[in-house]
Amino acid sequence: MPTKPATVRVERVDDIVVLTLDGPPVNLLGRSMRRALLRELEDAANQPDLAGLVIAGSPTFSAGADLAEFDSGDGLAEPTLHLTIAGALDSLPLPSVAAVTGAALGGGLELALACSARVAHPDARLGLPETTLGFMPGAGGTQRLPRAIGIQPALDLIVTGRAIDAGTALRLGLISEISDDPVAAAIALARSLALAPDAKPRLRDVELAEPLAEPYVDAARRAAGRNPRTSRGVLAALDALGSAATLPFDAGLAHEFQLFERLAASPTARAARYRFQSERNAGRLPDGATPLVIDSAAVIGAGTMGRGIALALLSAGIRVVLIDTAQDRVDAAREAVTAELRRSVDRGRLSEQGRDEQLALFQAEVGLAAAADAALIVEAVFEDLDVKREVFERLGALARADAVLASNTSSLDLDLIAASTTNADRVVGMHFFSPAQVMRLVEVVDGAKTSDRTLATTLALVKRLRKLPVVARVGPGFIGNRIFDQYVRQAQLLLRTGATPARIDGALEAWGMAMGPFRVLDLVGNDVPALARAAAGSTDPAFDVADDLAARGWLGRKSGLGWYSYADPTPRPNEGLHIEVTEPAVTDDELVNRCVFALVREAAAVLDDGIAASSADVDTVLVHGYGFPADRGGPWFDAEQYGWDRVVRAMQTWHEQTGDPFWATPPSLAERGAA
Ligand code: NAD
Repeated sequence: MPTKPATVRVERVDDIVVLTLDGPPVNLLGRSMRRALLRELEDAANQPDLAGLVIAGSPTFSAGADLAEFDSGDGLAEPTLHLTIAGALDSLPLPSVAAVTGAALGGGLELALACSARVAHPDARLGLPETTLGFMPGAGGTQRLPRAIGIQPALDLIVTGRAIDAGTALRLGLISEISDDPVAAAIALARSLALAPDAKPRLRDVELAEPLAEPYVDAARRAAGRNPRTSRGVLAALDALGSAATLPFDAGLAHEFQLFERLAASPTARAARYRFQSERNAGRLPDGATPLVIDSAAVIGAGTMGRGIALALLSAGIRVVLIDTAQDRVDAAREAVTAELRRSVDRGRLSEQGRDEQLALFQAEVGLAAAADAALIVEAVFEDLDVKREVFERLGALARADAVLASNTSSLDLDLIAASTTNADRVVGMHFFSPAQVMRLVEVVDGAKTSDRTLATTLALVKRLRKLPVVARVGPGFIGNRIFDQYVRQAQLLLRTGATPARIDGALEAWGMAMGPFRVLDLVGNDVPALARAAAGSTDPAFDVADDLAARGWLGRKSGLGWYSYADPTPRPNEGLHIEVTEPAVTDDELVNRCVFALVREAAAVLDDGIAASSADVDTVLVHGYGFPADRGGPWFDAEQYGWDRVVRAMQTWHEQTGDPFWATPPSLAERGAA
């Protein structure tokens, strides 16, 4: 998407100059914006007839630093925000007021904090989200925010990274005023400050006169240090807050910047920035296609997935009819959806009014006829091609002519499903993950005949559900299941080296996977993949043990016995499981590498086949659908950090040792290894 270069618009309102940041869409403080802003600040400093200065942003104040610049090196290049621009504001002989509309986040809020005062629109949001992105505020946020609102609330905002509304900001003293016209209010405030005895208050001059600030930060630091899940960003931000409590402003600022610089270059922060960019780029609409707005939906199949999908649609204010074949199923589903909304109220995630609004949008009915008026129809019936084809055939005759027809199939050929209906251009895949009302990932499957408009409508809808769409082309298992199956397959093969399921799970979980493969299988049910393999006619001996488990009825959690025994509250190894050792033992490192590089190997195949558009999309799917650790970016990003030469060499070694053709490196990977 071409964006016009960032500029600063200058407007004189009598004796006040208004600088409006103009870098759509969110006024990132990239180098060109910083240069333009510095130029105007220097210009203002040389105008003796000025009484004050206002910084505004249109339509949003600023969403902060341009993260891409931290990888290109421009992020910390002159003019820097923390020293040069903030310094220009500090030395300006005039009061400056930030007029916050939309959002002042990260560097955006730090810029506002470097002004003499701040006013905000009632809908504005302010915050320092850096620690949620793997780093920390680096332009004075940890020094000025506590001086503005006190150490305790500042620590809370920085550690949680949450944004606050204008009302809360006013209560905390972060802003001086709320106004429907923040620019006018800021002009008036600048003018009155110019007449006041302390014409130019600066947060850098505020003494943090809180005797308990230091012990408070120390206690928070100790508590955070004890928790192994605390991010490095939070730990560093707490260190910087400690300096705010103990050091003079400039020394604290220098310490903050030192911590920030070190962190910004760390692998976890790089991974966090990569995740942020990958998610922002996922599900870009096809050029020129105009999405239809979905106001009503029908969900066919009121089972586990259908209920979750209905809840996801309801939460976005979309009218939903949930359809099944028999009254008792419909009744059970209505009860389950109602109960889930009630639980959301109990947990404080939904207001009673919100629940009532969603219930008013919800219906459950027997029979497909109830789908006739829906703008979107999502099919979530049994994973059986014939059943799905029959549903789509009937929908062809019955649905609105412009309705989008989506299938939630996780493994079937979408093109075969589409072929059963008239207008295959309206058919698309919407592969939700379970529980669908919670999981953000949706693989949006672009079939051979899917039109751009259908695709665009589906992508826009998924975003409206506050979910993450990733486009996949048709192929067995799409992106995620296809890649994850190879990881599970390696875990199965490793059993032959004498490694137990508990050891393999433990090694992968220690490495960062949310759940080891055997625990995942026991949760899904060992019958599910076994049936899918049988349906696909697979005879891969790697799965002999897994198929044997399914045949014995050791299905996992639901049968009380699987790879583990669930007789006690804490699962224990299944003592009845005996696996022949036929291969030499391997180290934990090798266990992990074989499973994780299997993800990379299959990801290469998925990219070569054009099933996924980019390695960033593959990484997004694995992080959001399969528990791959986000702080490693994704399997592809992680392999890049590890070094493609080492990755490819490991694959070649396993190819020689095991003879498994899976490890034969495709040219696309071999090239990376050699480069
Ligand atoms: P489920 O068995 O819980 O629910 C299926 C429902 O469809 C049942 O209530 C059944 O009565 C109903 N149904 C069957 N034929 C129908 C018809 N002709 N008309 C109307 N209703 C009909 O299954 P599920 O786990 O919800 O899976 C549904 C789909 O979602 C499958 O395609 C599955 O592969 C896919 N999926 C499942 C998961 C998961 O984790 N369970 C994840 C992603 C995708």
